[in-house]
Amino acid sequence: MGHVPVATAGDILDAVSQAREAQHCWKRLSFVQRAQILGRFHDLILDRREQILDTIQSETGKARRDAFAELITVAGTARYYLAHGAQHLRAKRHRPAVPIITSAETVYKPHGVVGLITPWNYPFLLGIADALPALLAGNAVAIKPSDLTPLSAVLARNLLVESGLDPNLAVVVHGGAEAGAELIRHVDYIGFTGGTEAGTKVAVAAAERLIPLSLELGGKNPMIVLQGARLTEAATGLIAGAFSNSGQTCISVERVYVEESIYEEFARRVVEKTAGLKLGWSNSWDMDMGSLISRPHADRVLSRVERAVDEGARVLVGGKRRTDLGPSFVEPTILANVNDAMAISREETFGPVVALYPVHSADEAVARANDSEFGLNASVWAGGERRAREVARQIETGSAVVNATLLIYNSFDVPMGGVKHSGIGRRHGEHGILRYTQAQSIVSSIASGAGYDSLLARIKNQRTANAFVAALRMWRRLPWIR
Ligand code: NAD
Repeated sequence: MGHVPVATAGDILDAVSQAREAQHCWKRLSFVQRAQILGRFHDLILDRREQILDTIQSETGKARRDAFAELITVAGTARYYLAHGAQHLRAKRHRPAVPIITSAETVYKPHGVVGLITPWNYPFLLGIADALPALLAGNAVAIKPSDLTPLSAVLARNLLVESGLDPNLAVVVHGGAEAGAELIRHVDYIGFTGGTEAGTKVAVAAAERLIPLSLELGGKNPMIVLQGARLTEAATGLIAGAFSNSGQTCISVERVYVEESIYEEFARRVVEKTAGLKLGWSNSWDMDMGSLISRPHADRVLSRVERAVDEGARVLVGGKRRTDLGPSFVEPTILANVNDAMAISREETFGPVVALYPVHSADEAVARANDSEFGLNASVWAGGERRAREVARQIETGSAVVNATLLIYNSFDVPMGGVKHSGIGRRHGEHGILRYTQAQSIVSSIASGAGYDSLLARIKNQRTANAFVAALRMWRRLPWIR
């Protein structure tokens, strides 16, 4: 498809230095000036959609609809931060130390150069969406895409440049883990999206330089289906949640806990829908599911299924490689007879494989959902939305979705991220832009000698100390200056 140069340590240093140089001017521009460029980028990606979808599809083998999901999510992220970024970045006033005579505010300053290390599963979306709030906050970005999918990130960056961005403000460096590790040695903030194993190494490397970071890592996302849930809708939700992007989504559903009384009926509907999915590669819109990213990844996913079957699991539908379609196609697969000790229940599969588990009650479903080292996203389906929300609150994940599965990703105002081994930090909303800033607190006094320190300097004997204590007692009782 194309060639990209693998960056040496010297290339990465040069790229970050150029970005740092360019950032000095960029940070002085107003939000409105920066937004003009990103607004053009928003419109440009919609105009160039065919080129973008072709690039994503060729690089990943995914279905056109899955590529389209990337495009509209980047557009949504841009739209959201263009509309609300200025408000999030605005200086915030605080209650000061001494009312009336002192004041306090926090201002938000860019870090400098933000490094973004990204995976292959959404190469256009993850290659650029997190860069947009970073740029709007006044940073330059240095992106290190996955070595399996470098071209979508390059295209996204070139479209930013075509929209008017100084090319040095968004640099892309290529390579594998070594290039990522080298990037961390030079940037001022690191935003990592990828697996938990690599994320842990990134956290250690960032700690050595004491730079701030966010980690968006893996998941083993549970779905809970309780009596009273609308089963056809829940089955449709599961198909989207488990098989979108061929199951290679960080928030993909991989475990489904279903109340016993509805288990058989739910399983029947899910199997029927799964069997009807159209698998294959085409750059028209007629395929439901495309290829996995690579032959080794397909091998990994299938070996998980085989091991589960050896341990007693039953394949209700799917479970086979489809070499007639290409080297890395795996059928959408539903497993039953799976227990919690099996690897398929505990480790992230990151492919189109989902296990169904019958449970006696909502409490059991919640306990088993929480019995995981991961905590990214969850989905709950129950009779009433209120009941489902109550169940959702008991799940130990960074987000939980009621009556849907992947809805969190397009809720741009809502913080999204993981707990436990699924990550640190949040993207989207206020958190998603303020993470790219250093908060500086500015406290001031209307005149020298009016502040707290000068007040303390006047306490020179017991009498004035007692008077101060009496003033404190009164202060707590004065609601308007508390
Ligand atoms: P990966 O961890 O192997 O690689 C991710 C990126 O990190 C790549 O660019 C890679 O080159 C780089 N990298 C690897 N080791 C590194 C190191 N030691 N130092 C610096 N950089 C390093 O992940 P992957 O296989 O590309 O992607 C799949 C994983 O990503 C899955 O676990 C999935 O759940 C996760 N993911 C999470 C989210 C989220 O938002 N939580 C989104 C998408 C994917």
